[in-house]
Amino acid sequence: MGEFKDRPRRLGGGQSRCPHCGLLADRVATAEHDWVLLEPDVMPPAHRVPAEHRWIVLSDGRVTVYGVCPPVPEQRCRIEHRLACAARPLPDLWPWLTSLRGENARRASRQADPTLLPPPQEWPDAG
Ligand SMILES: [Zn+2]
Repeated sequence: MGEFKDRPRRLGGGQSRCPHCGLLADRVATAEHDWVLLEPDVMPPAHRVPAEHRWIVLSDGRVTVYGVCPPVPEQRCRIEHRLACAARPLPDLWPWLTSLRGENARRASRQADPTLLPPPQEWPDAG
């Protein structure tokens, strides 16, 4: 029907093909009057997904980001296809962890540089 690129009129939106991997994903209207491609048939517990990547379905069928921290334990959510797309790099899901890794990389490279090591300790002779 060639309607994949058009804006579906009904809420729910049907499915669209991912332009990167070619798989079908659910094209869903967001509460912010936009569209998002969601991974079909996957509803992980919300606490296992970073807050800004949790999508929950509203009563009218649209979806919105569920940023409640901590999430309700039994809350399930949907995730964007781009997080699961094999043809795209994984986005930075845990920015605080990425900065910690960056900081540790700097610390490790400082440690590996012998010119930055503290001078060896000179102990006075005990004799
Ligand atoms: Zn894809």
